[in-house]
Amino acid sequence: MPIGVFPQNRRRLRYTHLAAKAGVKVSTGYEVRSITRNEDGTWRVSAFDTRDGTKIQTVDAAKVFIGAGGAALPLLQLSGIPEAKQYGGFPVGGEFLVCDKPEIAARHLAKVYGLADTGSPPMSVPHLDTRVLDGKKVILFGPFATWSSKYLKNGSYFDLVKATTPSNIVPQLQVGAHEFALVKYLAEQLALSRDEKMAALRHYMPEAKDADWRLWEAGQRVQIIKNDPEKGGVLKLGTEVVVSADGSVSALLGASPGGSTSPAIMLSLLERVFADQMKTPAWQQKIREIVPSYGKKLNENPQLLATEWATTAETLQLAIAPPSLDGFVPSTAPTTTPGVVKKVPDMAL
Ligand SMILES: Cc1cc2nc3c(=O)[nH]c(=O)nc-3n(C[C@H](O)[C@H](O)[C@H](O)COP(=O)(O)OP(=O)(O)OC[C@H]3O[C@@H](n4cnc5c(N)ncnc54)[C@H](O)[C@@H]3O)c2cc1C
Repeated sequence: MPIGVFPQNRRRLRYTHLAAKAGVKVSTGYEVRSITRNEDGTWRVSAFDTRDGTKIQTVDAAKVFIGAGGAALPLLQLSGIPEAKQYGGFPVGGEFLVCDKPEIAARHLAKVYGLADTGSPPMSVPHLDTRVLDGKKVILFGPFATWSSKYLKNGSYFDLVKATTPSNIVPQLQVGAHEFALVKYLAEQLALSRDEKMAALRHYMPEAKDADWRLWEAGQRVQIIKNDPEKGGVLKLGTEVVVSADGSVSALLGASPGGSTSPAIMLSLLERVFADQMKTPAWQQKIREIVPSYGKKLNENPQLLATEWATTAETLQLAIAPPSLDGFVPSTAPTTTPGVVKKVPDMAL
């Protein structure tokens, strides 16, 4: 089964350990341009060499998973599965102020969130964030929203137009009309000058100097627009896993499936796509080998939490003290009845 194709060299390095495993082939430097169904029900994925467009790699597979950031929607559309027709995508970009002066970067090691200004949607929640860009420690401040019709940071300006189809054009227009707060927020953000962005930073770092900071386009996010039979086009703020009725094609759409949420998303994907296999003892054993806490609630099992914490800290080489469990009484019932959580626009990167 193909895992995927990754065009960037850095990805190639990251997946070297997978390639070393028996039965896993990792292809990099290829762009998938076609996903078609074979007569026997399997899928044919065709990818073109990004340096030499005449070289094509073709893979036949029983199951295809599409994880391609903002490009996941167009690839899902290529498959032609009916489920893809419910979705459209609205691209939003994120820009940060970056300081890479070592003497300033060295003084901060944190991700510190502030509060959105009065009247602003929470998508504007600003934060100072220590990051390592190309091996160099920097501080980011943002995000400031930007807009482009691209679905990937290095995508094409035609991405939005190409992904707009007869079945998603009306829902997309409906969202534009209904989500006034988002449209207003975007318009205000786009109008911000560099001086105004520096002024926002000075709420957090009053001594910040213009010369020490530069603007950097961090990435694109494609917010999902889903066609609801009753409400019409609805802007979906989270991450959405779309699976075809027969489980043979799946895709990850939407916001931030980053480090914080991707393991949980992938486990639930396995349960949907390989429903029968996941119930077998062999798969259960393997999944628990990989994720010892699988199927258990850490907040009900302090001992397991302590073990998992220690293993994770060791693997990731994190020098973080474990949480104190003194006096902890595990509870199996929630203390309050969860109410309806109001969803708000969010583009926190
Ligand atoms: C500045 C910044 C800070 C962030 N901080 C956090 C954080 O603290 N925590 C967190 O959880 N998330 C964070 N995120 C979000 C997180 O980085 C993304 O959610 C995550 O990278 C998405 O992973 P992905 O693999 O789905 O997509 P991407 O990382 O976008 O990767 C998609 C890949 O697919 C490739 N691709 C696209 N089309 C094709 C094609 N046709 N054929 C082959 N390959 C293709 C692309 O080239 C790309 O390499 C941050 C994002 C930014 C920009």
